[in-house]
Amino acid sequence: MKALIGNALDARGLKSNIAVLIEKNKIHEVIPRDRLKDYDVDEVFGGDGYLIIPGLINAHTHVAMTKFRGLGDDMALDRWLNEVIWPMEKEWTGEEVYKWALIGIAEAIANGSTTINDHYFFAEEIAKAAQKLGVRAFIGQTMMDLVDMPIAEPEKGFKFFKKWSGKDELVTATLAPHATDTCSKDLLNDVEELSEKKDALVHIHVSQSREEVKRVKEREGLLPVEYLKEAELLNERLIGVHGVYLTEREVGLYAKSGATLVHCPISLAKLEGSIAPIISLWEKGANIALGNDCAVSNNAMDMILEMKFAAILNKVKTENPTKATAKDVFYWTTLGGARALRLNTGLVEKGYLADLVLINAKKLHFLPETNFLSHLVYSARGSDVEKVFVNGELIYNEGYFLKLKMSIEDFYAL
Ligand SMILES: [Zn+2]
Repeated sequence: MKALIGNALDARGLKSNIAVLIEKNKIHEVIPRDRLKDYDVDEVFGGDGYLIIPGLINAHTHVAMTKFRGLGDDMALDRWLNEVIWPMEKEWTGEEVYKWALIGIAEAIANGSTTINDHYFFAEEIAKAAQKLGVRAFIGQTMMDLVDMPIAEPEKGFKFFKKWSGKDELVTATLAPHATDTCSKDLLNDVEELSEKKDALVHIHVSQSREEVKRVKEREGLLPVEYLKEAELLNERLIGVHGVYLTEREVGLYAKSGATLVHCPISLAKLEGSIAPIISLWEKGANIALGNDCAVSNNAMDMILEMKFAAILNKVKTENPTKATAKDVFYWTTLGGARALRLNTGLVEKGYLADLVLINAKKLHFLPETNFLSHLVYSARGSDVEKVFVNGELIYNEGYFLKLKMSIEDFYAL
């Protein structure tokens, strides 16, 4: 049995001076630290000045796009996609995707993510990179049929899904149609049929740009969320991403449906100069999760930084400093993501999966230690993460990836 010692913080609150006992892949018990001697523990991590939090869920990623970091900054989204990203993506090889997926996932882990939900081409390579590092991963092969992109042929997406379904304890295959403007009704119908039959998650971009909304309206005579509803995809298996231009009517439909909306505040503020109506969705009862998107549009894979931006940018959006709160954004990044992906994670409580992060809080920016939730969301940074446990196993320790047997420095030689 392993034990993590420190103050534990989850979206339900703080437990001071405790030990989290881990047996196999689960939290066996959470006990006062002074009772530790009563248990047969062979490895102890943390101690005074450590914060134990649930592993952060990065609910929307394109990890391999780390290769393009720093390219096409400060451009509008439609031009960015058509002139910068898609031409480079047409040149991808499986080998390159694998290498950059390793780097992107490693960065996410080092900043406290224990789960990623990825949407990309060469999904098999991304699944292999995830296995190598030991992260919990939901992976879908991007499919589109209304854009000339051979690597995104729908056939490849269905093939990946069939091959990887039930293959690995930590890797779950999803269905990943690209977006409402790049996928035909026929393709969405095929996705819906398989999702229903196999109870599979569907991961799709929704209302990401003004152009997307315009194209769907022109082609289908519908708004993006109405289009999803017509395709019968608007249900609890749907993980829609962005939702920047949702109308009030769409917010109502979405909130009632049980679907999750993944908020990527940094990425869309940077690409579109806009923030989705997250607070409106949240107040109407929609499930919200948080994601980094990618290292080109973000430009970091740091969910702690993302929480700060989520709280602050929503205050700007609503012109109201009380929305969103630190507690809201911490919930979205833990329990919100867990609900979207149907995971038994997100709390430091007995019986939950031992996906946990140990933060070294002996830093100036954690003083005066009066409000750890505030310190985590508003003062901390990803680099405060010291150790990452997934499924009860230590996979990252102070710059070293244990399963891969590589340090951060070694990635420069890849
Ligand atoms: Zn995306």
